[in-house]
Amino acid sequence: MQTLTRRGALRHAGLAAATTALVIDGTPQAFAAVPASRQVARAGATSVLVRRTTATLSYRVNVRDQPTLEPRARIVGTLASTTTLTGSYDASGLWFRIAEGAFKGRWVTSAVLVATTARAVNGRLPMSAVTRLPSWSVNVSNLPHEPRYLSRAAAVGYLGLAAAFKARFGVALTITEAYRTLSRQQLLYRTLGYPRAAVPGTSNHGLGNTIDFGIARTNAINSPLYFGRSHDVWLTANSKRCGFDRPDYMDRRGSNPEWWHYNFVG
Ligand SMILES: [Zn+2]
Repeated sequence: MQTLTRRGALRHAGLAAATTALVIDGTPQAFAAVPASRQVARAGATSVLVRRTTATLSYRVNVRDQPTLEPRARIVGTLASTTTLTGSYDASGLWFRIAEGAFKGRWVTSAVLVATTARAVNGRLPMSAVTRLPSWSVNVSNLPHEPRYLSRAAAVGYLGLAAAFKARFGVALTITEAYRTLSRQQLLYRTLGYPRAAVPGTSNHGLGNTIDFGIARTNAINSPLYFGRSHDVWLTANSKRCGFDRPDYMDRRGSNPEWWHYNFVG
């Protein structure tokens, strides 16, 4: 059985020390297998675009002073989803160092970048670009009982967040939906409709950077993660440290309230 863990001990206010090293079955993973879109940016002019996720809704991504999700890295600003950046990737391929402008020398996660010449990748990520999450992360009360996947950078953040959640509440921070293929998004769009399911090709789930959380065997109303409950309050407060954020329009008073939906923004 494949297991996926994170290096680093719990520390600093109960949050796990984030690291860019993913370990599967005890073996640290290389990050050479990045999507073709990112390889273009790494090899070429190093001009990249913060990902436009949908035509009508966008989110802002974090700029950090160090290429890590650890608490020692400060969030020094945010960028809109259409910002063009010049710079270069670090050796892990998980972070991009900005070389020009107001955020010169700062870092953004590679998970939200595409080369300016890249084709659309939403829902069509190569399996080499996503990381299979451990089996304990899948909410057993939700179908289908298939492995869940995230981009490598988002997987690092999720595992840190889940470790801190387990330390705080003693239960796993499980997932109902993570990366979605285009065909799965089309199925959900047909059955749920907009806005509960985004137009195929525009969902954040199609980029491998989004999680729908769900604690096992509880429905939406009973969930301890429901708006305002203790687990939700904790998750809202601590998710940013590990690179996740629930967009404003999905907050309790937003236009499309979804307490379970978090984007990886670095
Ligand atoms: Zn969602």
